[in-house]
Amino acid sequence: MSVQVVSAAATAKVPEVELEDLSPSEAEPQLGRSTSAVSAMAPPAGGGDPEAPAPAAERPPAPGPGSGPAAALSPAAGKVPQASAMKRSDPHHQHQRHRDGGEALVSPDGTVTEAPRTVKKQIQFADQKQEFNKRPTKIGRRSLSRSISQSSTDSYSSAASYTDSSDDETSPRDKQQKNSKGSSDFCVKNIKQAEFGRREIEIAEQEMPALMALRKRAQGEKPLAGAKIVGCTHITAQTAVLMETLGALGAQCRWAACNIYSTLNEVAAALAESGFPVFAWKGESEDDFWWCIDRCVNVEGWQPNMILDDGGDLTHWIYKKYPNMFKKIKGIVEESVTGVHRLYQLSKAGKLCVPAMNVNDSVTKQKFDNLYCCRESILDGLKRTTDMMFGGKQVVVCGYGEVGKGCCAALKAMGSIVYVTEIDPICALQACMDGFRLVKLNEVIRQVDIVITCTGNKNVVTREHLDRMKNSCIVCNMGHSNTEIDVASLRTPELTWERVRSQVDHVIWPDGKRIVLLAEGRLLNLSCSTVPTFVLSITATTQALALIELYNAPEGRYKQDVYLLPKKMDEYVASLHLPTFDAHLTELTDEQAKYLGLNKNGPFKPNYYRY
Ligand code: NAD
Repeated sequence: MSVQVVSAAATAKVPEVELEDLSPSEAEPQLGRSTSAVSAMAPPAGGGDPEAPAPAAERPPAPGPGSGPAAALSPAAGKVPQASAMKRSDPHHQHQRHRDGGEALVSPDGTVTEAPRTVKKQIQFADQKQEFNKRPTKIGRRSLSRSISQSSTDSYSSAASYTDSSDDETSPRDKQQKNSKGSSDFCVKNIKQAEFGRREIEIAEQEMPALMALRKRAQGEKPLAGAKIVGCTHITAQTAVLMETLGALGAQCRWAACNIYSTLNEVAAALAESGFPVFAWKGESEDDFWWCIDRCVNVEGWQPNMILDDGGDLTHWIYKKYPNMFKKIKGIVEESVTGVHRLYQLSKAGKLCVPAMNVNDSVTKQKFDNLYCCRESILDGLKRTTDMMFGGKQVVVCGYGEVGKGCCAALKAMGSIVYVTEIDPICALQACMDGFRLVKLNEVIRQVDIVITCTGNKNVVTREHLDRMKNSCIVCNMGHSNTEIDVASLRTPELTWERVRSQVDHVIWPDGKRIVLLAEGRLLNLSCSTVPTFVLSITATTQALALIELYNAPEGRYKQDVYLLPKKMDEYVASLHLPTFDAHLTELTDEQAKYLGLNKNGPFKPNYYRY
């Protein structure tokens, strides 16, 4: 059964794919997929997985005793759990939480209704007939256009750049560059920066244990042999570790950036130097953005058979420009809320012509993205921008969901006095049980030193609140959209804006009161700090396993639909990260497994379990 996503609110932040742009002829080309056997990396069947769509005959042999997750960590075991089709239509899966805070409500007929989020944004894609030879002027190249997706233009800060190339005004497209092996099949800012990038990649490897473990295991077996993966993600050191892992597993990769600001030029250079066709640099124009994507797919003698996307722009480009390519493509792995939403729309319209994996909604990834990542990065973002001390400060955190819980825990640990606002009595009660005072924003707005929004909602902090804040109050947002704080209401003639640092504005009232607005109300941690590599390791491992599964799945296991990674694979991603902590997982005894009605190898929880 196809799962439908119905946008319940005209306020959805998630951009919409212009499905009408896809001609009927583009829909559902026949797949010429082979029935290749499950890869040697494929997992123990484990039995007892009610979600597994594959007939038993298609599964690898069941494991013997002692092949639970702990055993799976031993190099000898080295098996990857099989992805099964845990779809949104699973009747147990009634609530799906999205990264941007929206919740998907699943009705018994499998319809997924997205709860209201924030701002609706219709995306205009670049003109199909775009002529890349007609080069824009320098100003044109730098201008931001509305025709690329929000996620591709969101400001995104990553690790510091060692080499300042800001004085180099020449567009990479105008440069003739070769790597040390003589290849010119790439386009990066400056290939000479490769050495700096290599250091960044080596640092990232230290915090990406699961991918490094997968590489070791792949020495004998190449589960991605023959895979031709075209990727469009942030190009950072962590992505480089993923790409090099995919290469070690046997894949050929071509890569473009999913965001015009986020590329680390040195890392792109290091990848190009080691032979990866990478087309990306920091500060691409819109025209550059699509040109880079096109250079990844429009290659003589090379056709992708897998897509790894973050935001859906690459997928959409192939749909619009090269629909026939889908005849050879075995699957799409999509990371972002936006891209996943587009895939569900395609599925709903009957136009999704290959299986797709929604890695965004896997449990481990969500926990790391929302709770643990924000617990780490809220302090970092505040400290970098304001140099403030947290002890004794009064802070109000709006929203006690995953992100809010992370922020509150971090601030409490630093000795701050933390207040919470909530609309949901369950989360409100949780806040009380965790020792936070539940208040209405109005009750504390005059006294607090910091206001943090984490709701995924809009206008949580209004102009009235801003008017009543005390002098020097810091205001910032950790939610997805920049509408949680009504920043627009501060653009009035009586208020003076003073940019005091990058991402820090003082907004000054006529009486001299000033508030400190961070990142103009955009996501604080993504704008002003870095995301911990370990968090990205979880995501990258999930992506790698999804690619392995889709690439090796026998024909028929996955249909032209959107699938969630099954819990077993989630558990495997988590288990691959346990050795970092010298963590020793307890194995169920046979008796205990029987008592709980579980397979000793997992999955250990039902789909509806809330972690
Ligand atoms: P969530 O749904 O778990 O939590 C949001 C909470 O806000 C809910 O409990 C909801 O009841 C509450 N809420 C809604 N409107 C409110 C209001 N007016 N006043 C007070 N509380 C209100 O979502 P989440 O996973 O915590 O994510 C929250 C936001 O953070 C989303 O926009 C999400 O996209 C974003 N996010 C940010 C990061 C990051 O790195 N900064 C990471 C993940 C998610």
